[in-house]
Amino acid sequence: MTDHDAREARRTGLEANLASVRARIDSAVHAAGRGAGEVTLTVVTKFFPASDVRLLADLGVVDVGENRHQEAVDKAAVCEDLVLRWHYIGALQSNKAAAVASYADLVESVDRLKLVNGLGRGAEQRGRRLDCLLQVSLDPPEAGGQRAGVHPEDLAALAARVADHDHLALRGLMAVAPLGQEPDRSFASLVEIRERFLAEHPDATVLSAGMSGDLESAISHGATHVRIGRAVLGERPLIK
Ligand SMILES: *Cc1c(COP(=O)(O)O)cnc(C)c1O
Repeated sequence: MTDHDAREARRTGLEANLASVRARIDSAVHAAGRGAGEVTLTVVTKFFPASDVRLLADLGVVDVGENRHQEAVDKAAVCEDLVLRWHYIGALQSNKAAAVASYADLVESVDRLKLVNGLGRGAEQRGRRLDCLLQVSLDPPEAGGQRAGVHPEDLAALAARVADHDHLALRGLMAVAPLGQEPDRSFASLVEIRERFLAEHPDATVLSAGMSGDLESAISHGATHVRIGRAVLGERPLIK
C-alpha cells in the first residue's frame, strides 16, 4: 500500500466509525426525549498521531480531547492551521497548569484548588479567559486511594474559586464512571451532585460524561458532551 492508499483507508475507517458513534448519540438523545444537537461529540485522540487529528478535522470534527500535556502541546502545535477546540481531559500537575492553559480551549479536569492559580496565570498570559469544567469523583467512599476528581463535598469551594477568578470561566462538570460499577448508578449520583451545583452556578450547564462504553447511560443522565476515543479511533496502541 502506498502512503496515499493508507491514508485513504484510514480516512474511510474513521468516517465509518464517526457515523456509527453519531448514530449512537442520536438514538440515545432521542430515547432520552432530548433535543437533537444537545450533545457534543469530543473525539479523544490521545495516543493517536496528528495525521488522525487532521483527518478528523476534515470529516467535520471540531472538539478533540487529549490527556497528556507533552503529547497535547506537540499535536496542537502541528495542527495550528486547523479550526479545532482542544479539550484537556487528563490528570494535571500544578506546575504544568499554566502551560496547559497556553493551548487548551477547555480544561475538563480541574479537581483541586492548587490548579486555579496556574490555570489563571496561563490564561492571563494568553490574554483570554479559559473555560473550565470541574472533574467530580464518582468513586464510592469504600474505594479509597487517590483517584482523579474532586470529592463531591469539596466541590462547592472549588467552584466558588474558579467562578471568582477573572481569567477563568466556570462552564460545568466532568466525570468518569468508575470501573466495576454500573454506569447508571454512577451517573445517577452525578445527577444529584449536578443539581446542587447548578443551584449555585445556574449558567455552568456543561456536563461532560460518557465514553465509548457508556455514552448511552451518560446521555440519559443529562450529558451535554461525550468523550469518545476507541469507538472512533480503534484500540489504543499499548506501548508509548
Ligand atoms: C481516554 C479517555 C476517554 C475516552 O475513552 P474511550 O473508552 O476510549 O472512549 C474519555 N475520557 C477520559 C477522561 C479519558 O482519559
